[in-house]
Amino acid sequence: MLNKKSVEDINVEGKKVLLRCDFNVPLDIETKSKITNDKRIIESMKTINYLINHNARIILCSHIGKTKEKLSLKPVAERLSDLLEKDVKLLEEIIGDNVKAYIDQMKDGDVVLLENVRMFPEEEACDEEFAKSLASLADIYVNDAFGTCHRAHASTYGVAKYLPAVSGFLIQKELDALDKSINNPIRPFVAILGGSKVSSKIAVITALLDKVDTVIIGGGMTYTFVKALGGNIGKSICEDDKLDVAIEILKKAKEKNVEFVLPTDSVVADDFSNDANTMIVDTNNIPNEYEGVDIGPETIEKCREIIKNAGTVVWNGPVGVFEFDNFAKGTKKIAEFLAESNAVSIIGGGDSAAAVEKFGLADKMNHVSTGGGASLEFMEGKELPGIVALQDK
Ligand code: ADP
Ligand code: MG
Repeated sequence: MLNKKSVEDINVEGKKVLLRCDFNVPLDIETKSKITNDKRIIESMKTINYLINHNARIILCSHIGKTKEKLSLKPVAERLSDLLEKDVKLLEEIIGDNVKAYIDQMKDGDVVLLENVRMFPEEEACDEEFAKSLASLADIYVNDAFGTCHRAHASTYGVAKYLPAVSGFLIQKELDALDKSINNPIRPFVAILGGSKVSSKIAVITALLDKVDTVIIGGGMTYTFVKALGGNIGKSICEDDKLDVAIEILKKAKEKNVEFVLPTDSVVADDFSNDANTMIVDTNNIPNEYEGVDIGPETIEKCREIIKNAGTVVWNGPVGVFEFDNFAKGTKKIAEFLAESNAVSIIGGGDSAAAVEKFGLADKMNHVSTGGGASLEFMEGKELPGIVALQDK
């Protein structure tokens, strides 16, 4: 997947370039019209500016929000106009004669944005005709939507069949950072894996056991492991149908000589809310009326030691319910240890990235991925269709 052509390997002068970006940025809950975090737009600027400076005519394409919300990319067009200091018009349509007519009168260096491509069901169905129509708008296709490249949709996959297809700088940067850290890590190589469910992380844990020296488990999935080992987990979140998988994972870790760290203590709460009563207990002995919501101080200390000595740390999944301030301490401490450490730090996972940003530590990390699902699938060793579809070097 790494030997793909980039925009630098193709002549874009005077060409119409269809650039698929990931402008799926969060909007404010009340009006759905204000961007609350523009990281993904900022990260796509390098490719857009390159194309402007090389006199391409740029047709931007993206989705935003959940499919059923049918959100408009209008706030993105406005933000792009500010950042580029030029008018970026939002076309209400995506394919068809009106769009073609508009593109035909564009000049070198002009930028236009097509409306939310997921307003069309053909996008996610990867409809051939739709992909062909999209392709007919342009001479070249550039994919820079890392956050969507684990999806084989019309604008991320189908279209690449009908145009010379290359990657943008963001995809290059993401693949480079993820590949180096996972396949050529500075050792000791540590993975911190949290989040709520074992089921969503089985594939990544299993794949990483072949690569890492240490795995630290945190978050809700801790308790599936603890229960499988015979501990009392009270009301903690647990997947009872994954107890045997947890045992399998522990067995594999032993076979591979991987140090497998489960939290020894937990912050437990008598309610799933910020003002619940809490206490710190042994993770194996959680009282019946309580549930684990964060790692405890002893576990935090253990993490400090491991991170201090690490060469590379890949982190996917918060180690507690960080959305509640009272349960965010473990996640915040891990972010701080990573910020202070000399280890190469890679954050892959939507909620983990949001946590690191919430604590204001994102720019202290070596790499914070813009694609939660995509980075997870990469770490699982899967092929990403949006990248596979691009031309080889
Ligand atoms: P990422 O997006 O980084 O891959 P996940 O989506 O797997 O992370 O998991 C994030 C969610 O896990 C957060 O919403 C967080 O509240 C939840 N979580 C973490 N620890 C616990 C816990 N002990 N109990 C329940 N949920 C938890
Ligand atoms: Mg998530």
